[in-house]
Amino acid sequence: MKTTRKVGGGGTVPSAARLDRIVADARAAAAKREQGYREQALKIYPWVCGRCARSFTHANLRELTVHHRDHNHDNNLPDGSNWELLCLYCHDNEHQKQLEAAGGASAASGDKGGGATHSPFADLKAMLARKDAK
Ligand SMILES: [Zn+2]
Ligand SMILES: [Zn+2]
Repeated sequence: MKTTRKVGGGGTVPSAARLDRIVADARAAAAKREQGYREQALKIYPWVCGRCARSFTHANLRELTVHHRDHNHDNNLPDGSNWELLCLYCHDNEHQKQLEAAGGASAASGDKGGGATHSPFADLKAMLARKDAK
């Protein structure tokens, strides 16, 4: 009688799943926090972009974002003085400016310093930036 040794009983716990959960948790917490100050800001301020003065309604409100004047997302003053409502385009622009001012290394090619370039991915970029932004 042959004893078949069992091999391959992988004792490796899929740590990726655990990591996923941590990431998901962190993301949920961040989303919740963001939801909090966003709601606050929308209560305090009129639904108008602080740059281009575009106005918003419930229909397109998701395109109106909360910008932190000092770029510190943890600095959420109850009076809202660190917040500014900006549309996705202007918000993207604002951070672009900040990046260029801070880094200056990756200069935009052929930038005339003019108006915003309206690419179909602009809002996606803004959303990604917001996700990564500290
Ligand atoms: Zn705007
Ligand atoms: Zn911002």
